[in-house]
Amino acid sequence: MYNWNIIGHKKQLEMIEQDIESGNLTHAYLFSGPSRVGKFSIVKRLANILQCNNNLCNTCPTCKQLQSGNHTDTIILRSDEGESIKIEQIRDIIARLQMTKQANYKLLLIKGAERLTPEAANCLLKTLEEPPPNTMIIMTTSNIREILPTIISRVRLIKFTAYSNKFIEEKLTDLYPDKDPDIIKQVASLSLGKSGKAIRLLENSELLQKYLNMYNVLCEFLEDKPLYTKFETINEILKEEKSPDEFLDVFTHLVRTKLHSGIDVDTITPEKKQYYLDLLASTEETRSLLKRNINARLALENLALKTTI
Ligand SMILES: [Zn+2]
Repeated sequence: MYNWNIIGHKKQLEMIEQDIESGNLTHAYLFSGPSRVGKFSIVKRLANILQCNNNLCNTCPTCKQLQSGNHTDTIILRSDEGESIKIEQIRDIIARLQMTKQANYKLLLIKGAERLTPEAANCLLKTLEEPPPNTMIIMTTSNIREILPTIISRVRLIKFTAYSNKFIEEKLTDLYPDKDPDIIKQVASLSLGKSGKAIRLLENSELLQKYLNMYNVLCEFLEDKPLYTKFETINEILKEEKSPDEFLDVFTHLVRTKLHSGIDVDTITPEKKQYYLDLLASTEETRSLLKRNINARLALENLALKTTI
């Protein structure tokens, strides 16, 4: 019904549209699922649908303000640096939610609700329970285990999942008929089933090139190279990159590629298979450690240690 401008998630979008259509919107939503599958894009789109009076026209002042992030009645709380959301911030926002509104709704959009400190989450509970009229809180999380059960019990939970490479490849081919099929294939594979990321990579050739360069560099991690050269590589990468996300994404892609190509040609030994599976688990572990602000260099070096057989 609406143009969500997103790949997949048909079932989830239908649920949301049904809530809008039936006038059955609840005052709090939590979208849960892997990072970069497009959850927060959907949240922003939903905010736009709710606030625009011309059926998501993209041209009225409301739409323009929302798209540039300057809409007074739509408060966005996000931090891409992994910092926690503190009680002072929530107090401040609750006060803003109580002010008179000009738009259809007062909206609070929280990206990464797992970053709420327990105090901040508790402070938000009362508003989640009895929000001011026409107020909605829409949150996303990629780590639902870190969200207080008392929060989860007060929201409508919508779960999102990542997609297979093949699905992403097909959708990208539909969306970008002019792009080189080889590039699409590469992007689908590098995006690790995350549609939001696939689009970002395909639309940003500089970023894609960075990923491909990283791929070539990281290949040495699965070779029998001395540990100190791997540590040096990590140092080089961290000098340029503030966040080790790309490292971990590309490394996951690399290990998965090795694992699957090995299975296809039936040359992989059970030991080797286990080695790759263990590496994938260690990579995920590193990712969750980094979310808790563990020193990036130490975390990546620890991962490099696991690559030696
Ligand atoms: Zn509009």
